[in-house]
Amino acid sequence: CGIVGYIGNNDSKELLLRGLEKLEYRGYDSAGIALKNEDGVHVFKEKGRIADLRRAVDGHIFANIGIGHTRWATHGVPSKVNSHPHQSASDRFTLVHNGVIENYDLLKREYFADGAFKSETDTEVIVQLIEKFVGEGLQVLEAFRKTLTLLHGSYALALLDAEDNETIYVAKNKSPLLVGLGQGFNVVASDAMAMLQVTDQFVEIMDKEIVIVTKDFVNIQNLNGETIERAPYTAELDA
Ligand code: GLU
Repeated sequence: CGIVGYIGNNDSKELLLRGLEKLEYRGYDSAGIALKNEDGVHVFKEKGRIADLRRAVDGHIFANIGIGHTRWATHGVPSKVNSHPHQSASDRFTLVHNGVIENYDLLKREYFADGAFKSETDTEVIVQLIEKFVGEGLQVLEAFRKTLTLLHGSYALALLDAEDNETIYVAKNKSPLLVGLGQGFNVVASDAMAMLQVTDQFVEIMDKEIVIVTKDFVNIQNLNGETIERAPYTAELDA
């Protein structure tokens, strides 16, 4: 029920875990993070409390890109397998999602063979579709955009590509998500409160927008690929 993300020069682990703790008030049954560095993407997830996740995370990993999630299960029981992040068939793509994909079963049956999925969630179809479309020759951004046009329902999404050391892809529809701006880093959060520890400058994202977040810039696009300019606002420090 909450999302956080970081891309910059520093290690992301502690920031993500603290961010998730700030989102605990929203309620959740599981939590997870994906940490990305030169070695690849490392996923840690647990049913239960953030404290359980914290114990499961390998403290030796330095990762300057990361995404995190607290889950309030809607499709699939609360379990480690159904916890986010979810990964595509080859593990190239890693995704966290808040919301509900209403047509997930239809999409699953239309695009995939029985038994192709790892979890019982509505979320997994999103990350599997992205990999499928990339496999068919689309660029990652195009595959992400095409996938979003197929989804009915609500989503806040943050996506990592194991082959890209510079980008977190973000999108939203009817679920909250903000991008926070820093000097030499940028962050993502469902609620500014989660990232006030590092910035008070936030940019709103509107429904059906995609945001390309790197450590140096934030590029907001609509589903036609047109760039949208939007000024940041200052979040209340006592929020
Ligand atoms: N529908 C997704 C699931 O059940 C996401 C739930 C959430 O927003 O935490 O895994």
